[in-house]
Parts: sequence; structure tokens; C-alpha cells
Amino acid sequence: MLNSEQTLQAIQIMGDMYPTTGSSLVADTPFHFLLAVMLSAQTTDKAVNMLTPAFFKQYPTPKSLAAASELEIQKYIKTIGLYRNKAKYLHECAQSLVDRFAGEVPRTRNELMQLQGVGRKTANVVLAECFGIPALAVDTHVSRIARRLAIVPKSATVSQIEAVLMNKLPKEIWITAHHRMITWGREQCSARAPKCRDCPLLFMCNEGQKRQKVNV
Ligand code: SF4
Repeated sequence: MLNSEQTLQAIQIMGDMYPTTGSSLVADTPFHFLLAVMLSAQTTDKAVNMLTPAFFKQYPTPKSLAAASELEIQKYIKTIGLYRNKAKYLHECAQSLVDRFAGEVPRTRNELMQLQGVGRKTANVVLAECFGIPALAVDTHVSRIARRLAIVPKSATVSQIEAVLMNKLPKEIWITAHHRMITWGREQCSARAPKCRDCPLLFMCNEGQKRQKVNV
């Protein structure tokens, strides 16, 4: 397993290779960012960014979205998967924001997770991106990279991965680490074709070294 120092070193090396990383979802307010994150489940940020300008224009506030019907919402988001379920969650989420939070996106994980369709990962992304509150959202890329680099055991669950990363990394870089691991997962260490041969982390990556031996 990588210790804290090695984990930090890995994150720094990722940053050397991909210095500018951040969320690729485009939104103008915390409310719209929350909607964008909810829409991005099991689809690409690019697909979400294509539909959100018209969607956000039509529904600028929680009140306006809560007043819409699910069918009306579906019309704006039907280019992405699971749009019927997503329309339902977005509508209920907007209604909760109006009823319980005076139309404002709350700033604590517990409150965010009380909103329909908002799990821990979404809550963490919103805390970090909208309010700069240190949080470490674990998605498919973060999970894969943490396991491959042996920051966590292969069998670690999502909640264990979050806990270990938070323990091994200083709080000040949780948000940066999240961004870098996602970029690393997309660009360098994809699920199907990790670029191990030229990877600057190969020296500390058992998984990559194993793959190299198999390919010799
Ligand atoms: Fe991923 Fe391979 Fe790099 Fe390890 S060596 S981090 S498996 S690309």
C-alpha cells in the first residue's frame, strides 16, 4: 500500500502532467451546478453541457423548476440516459429546496443528502465546487486509480476509499486530488487501456508493473 507521503507524491506527479484540472460541468449558480451534477450520472459532462443552457434558461430558480411538470422537464433533458428518472429527481429536489431551504442550496453534506436524488458523491462535488468546502467525491475514476495505485486495498468500498484518501491526504488538497484523479482516469489510466508503458507513476504502481510484465 502507498503511505501518505507516497500518495501525496502520486497526486503531485498527476498535477505535473495535467496542471489545469477542474470540473468540466458548466453552471452559473450553485442550484444549476447541483442540477448539472445530478444530470451527469451515467452520462458524460459533455452531453450535460449540451443541454443545460436551454434548461437553465427555462428554469433559473428552484421555484421555477418546482412549478414545472415532470413531462415539461423531460423535454429539456431527453438527450441523455435515464431522463425520466432524472426529471423526477430534479423536480422533487427543486421542491425540497423551496420547502425546506428557502430556495437556497444548503452548505452541509447532511442537508444536501436530504434532497431527493442527492447521494454522498453529489453532495461532496457540490460542497467542493460551489462552496470550496474540502470534500473528496469518489467516482468511478477515483475508485479505479486508488485501487490500481494501491492507495487502498483492491476490495475497498467507495466509502472506505473516501475515508482512506481523506486520511492519507492533507485537507487542503482534497479538492485538487479529486480533480487530478478524475483527469488521470480519463487521460492516462482509463479502465480499458491504461498507458502504463510511459506512465510517470509506473515506478510506484504494482498494477502497472504487472501489466508491463504480461505485455513483454
Ligand atoms: Fe495507471 Fe498504469 Fe500509470 Fe499504474 S502505471 S497509474 S495502472 S497508467
